[in-house]
Parts: sequence; C-alpha cells; structure tokens
Amino acid sequence: MPEQVCTAQRALFFEHCLLSEGWARNVRLTLRDGVIASVEAGVSARLSDERHACAVPGMPNLHSHAFQRGMAGLAERRGASSDSFWTWREIMYRFVDRMTPDDVQALAAMAYVEMLETGFTRVGEFHYLHHDRDGRPYADPAAMSGAVIAAAAETGIGMTLLPVLYRYGGFGARPPGLAQARFLNDIDGYVRLLEGAEAHARSLPDPVIGVAPHSLRAVSPDQLADMAALAKGRPVHIHIAEQEKEVADCLGWSGQRPVEWLLAHAEVGANWCLVHATHMTEAETLALARSGAIAGLCPITEANLGDGLFPAQDFLAAGGRYGIGSDSNVLIDCAEELRLLEYGQRLVHRARNVMATGSGRSTGADLYAAALDGGGAALGRTGGIAVGHGADLVSLRLDHPSMAHREGDAIMDSFVFAGGRAAIDCVWRHGEKVVVNGRHRLRESVEKVYVRVLEALIA
Ligand code: ZN
Repeated sequence: MPEQVCTAQRALFFEHCLLSEGWARNVRLTLRDGVIASVEAGVSARLSDERHACAVPGMPNLHSHAFQRGMAGLAERRGASSDSFWTWREIMYRFVDRMTPDDVQALAAMAYVEMLETGFTRVGEFHYLHHDRDGRPYADPAAMSGAVIAAAAETGIGMTLLPVLYRYGGFGARPPGLAQARFLNDIDGYVRLLEGAEAHARSLPDPVIGVAPHSLRAVSPDQLADMAALAKGRPVHIHIAEQEKEVADCLGWSGQRPVEWLLAHAEVGANWCLVHATHMTEAETLALARSGAIAGLCPITEANLGDGLFPAQDFLAAGGRYGIGSDSNVLIDCAEELRLLEYGQRLVHRARNVMATGSGRSTGADLYAAALDGGGAALGRTGGIAVGHGADLVSLRLDHPSMAHREGDAIMDSFVFAGGRAAIDCVWRHGEKVVVNGRHRLRESVEKVYVRVLEALIA
C-alpha cells in the first residue's frame, strides 16, 4: 500500500554532506527501515524533504563502562599518598557495591543520552558488573546485561554489548578480592551469561554481541583461548597495557610485556580491539599495527587516570587502525576525545597536526575518518554515509560562530578543534531523530530518574 511506503521512508536534504567517498553538496538521503536507502548528490530538495545545513556520519564509541557515569568527578580529591588508577579503582568498587539492575539502567540511560547528544551513535559497552550484591548470579544471569540493553532501547543508541569475563585478581591466577565478587564468572557461567545477553539483545534493532576477556590479569591463558573460540569472528575486546604496574606484573609473570604476550599467544586480528595499549615498545607498536587489530583509545579517561600517552605517531606510520571510547564517562564528548588525542601528541612531540595522515591533510577530518573506520570495525558495524549503511547521522550547525563559512574538511577541523558539541544540531540513530537542537528528546525524563537513583547511591 502506498501509504505504508510513505511512512516507512523519509528523505533528508543537506547542503553539505560527508559521504563515505568524501564531501558532496546538495545531498538527498532517503532512509528506510533504519538504513540509508539512497544517496543523491548535486540535486534539489523536494518540498517534503527535511532540510539541514550539514551531515556527518555518527561516531562509534568503542569503549564504555556506562554505570561509571554516576561517579564522574567523585575521584578528584587528593589522597594521603600518590593517587593513581589503582586508588580510582577503589572508589569505583565502593560505588558499584550497592547498584541494582534498575540503577544501572538509569545511569546507563543518562550516559547514552549524552553520547547521542555529542555525536556518538553506537556504543561498545564493556560490561563487567554481572551479579547480585552477595556475588551470586541473579535468577537471570544476564539481568545486568539486560539493564544496559534496556537503556540502549530507551535512548535509541546502537549497542555492541561486550559481556566481560573476569575471573582472577592478578597475573598467574591470583585470587580475586572481595570487591570483585560481582564481576566473577568461570567459562560455564560466562557461556550462560552470553546466551542470556543474546536473548535480551533481540529487543534491539541492530545489536552486536562480542566477547571481552577483561585483561590479561583477570583471565588465564586457557580462558583467553576459550573466549577467542566463543567469539567466532565477532568482536573481541580486552583492556591491555593501560598501566605501568600492569606491564611490570606481566613481565614478572611471563617474561613478556602485555601486548607482546598477547600477540604471541592469541590469534589477534581485525575483529580484536586492544583497549588503551598505552605502554608499548616500538616493536610492540609495529606488531600491533600489522596485526590489523584496532587500538581502542580513550584520551579523556587516560588523561583523567594519569595512564600515559599512546605511541600514536609510530602506530600511524605503520598503518595502524584506531577508534575512540569514552571509557569511564567522566566527560562524554566525541569532539573532545578527538581533540585531546591530537593535543596529547602535540604536547609530547612539540609539533602540530600529528594525527593528520600526510602533508596538506586536515587533522580534524583525518581523526574523524580514522575513528569512524576503526570504531566501526571494533564494534562490528561499518559506519559512514552510504547506501546500505545504518542511518546514523549527525547534523552540524553551520551558523555556529565556530563553523560559519566553513566548507569541506574545514568543517571537521572547526568541529573538532573549535565548535565541538555546541555545533551539533540533530542526531539520527537507525533512521530515528533522537536529538533535536542538541538535546535528546528524552533528556528531561532520563535526567530526573538519574538524579533520583544517584541520590540513593551516593547517600
Ligand atoms: Zn575500560
């Protein structure tokens, strides 16, 4: 029936549009069933088209622990001795202690609203909080996974769920601490969790489920091999070489550094995402680039935790692929992640435009394209504005003072380095407009529930 065709299909018209093959002017996109059905460039708008100034592809956020949004800013007070990732982790463990699945859904929904508002349209949720407060599985072992999936369904963000296997408290199968009881599984428990998560994810339009051994310190070599087998080509994510202590502990345990050990003992390929990979030798950096795996960089969190700087220059020179993640969600902002990634490199190399891929290249456009490509690969969904791809789009205001009279790659430079989130107008996810005038359509109600839940968690 023609009416049905009309309601399922809509058209958007953009004066500027960053297509997968590059910038185009006067672009008309038709969206059908959450997918880009057609792309016409150099055409006129039709009367019924919704018109906007500029479209860029939605960005994948390849690494998030959504519930940590609730403790943003709570770990910024100096302690008795020198603070580090490890003292931050103690605060996180205390925060986690009381959370119910409903609490997790409320915190995750807030994080996902903010992700969508800043241009992230799919999240890789590296989800390790599984069990009840006493460490026993819930009647539904995937209840907590169900909570983050419900938050994705509520807010509309695309979900690549990465249920985490956490088993040990340190290298060499050291026993876990009491505070880790809610995270723990053996492989059998993990398989049940994965099946449960898959069942919950059927409520989403385009879910991806991957696997995530938490880190080399939290799983045994045998478990790591089991996880790789369970993945069957789906995304495999692992935290690695974030901390110098972790490198020293790994050397003490195996005689090898974390990235060196992983590349020697697992078939690391393009479906793998190595999150952080901060502390690498030159040889490790080149080997990681050659493996085809994605480096999962989280510049704001890595700065907040004092982790160190990723060796981006060598990695890029060797053809390495990367994406960005908001990780601890201490501040959720796509443009700011990209900006800080570049600024960290500028400060350490005392040079400008380090992440641009060649002379005359635009740093903003190259950062955006690389993170779109790497993030999409890491999350199991190719992004970009092209026929057949998901209709995950961000429109930018070209009347924002930082964006006025920009064209082509200058739009991306000005978005990343100057305008940032204030230049975001609308966001479409799976063809639905979820952000209008920079605000998620459910922000008010999600915020209200979030504030109420937080009161109980912080009190
Ligand atoms: Zn993480």
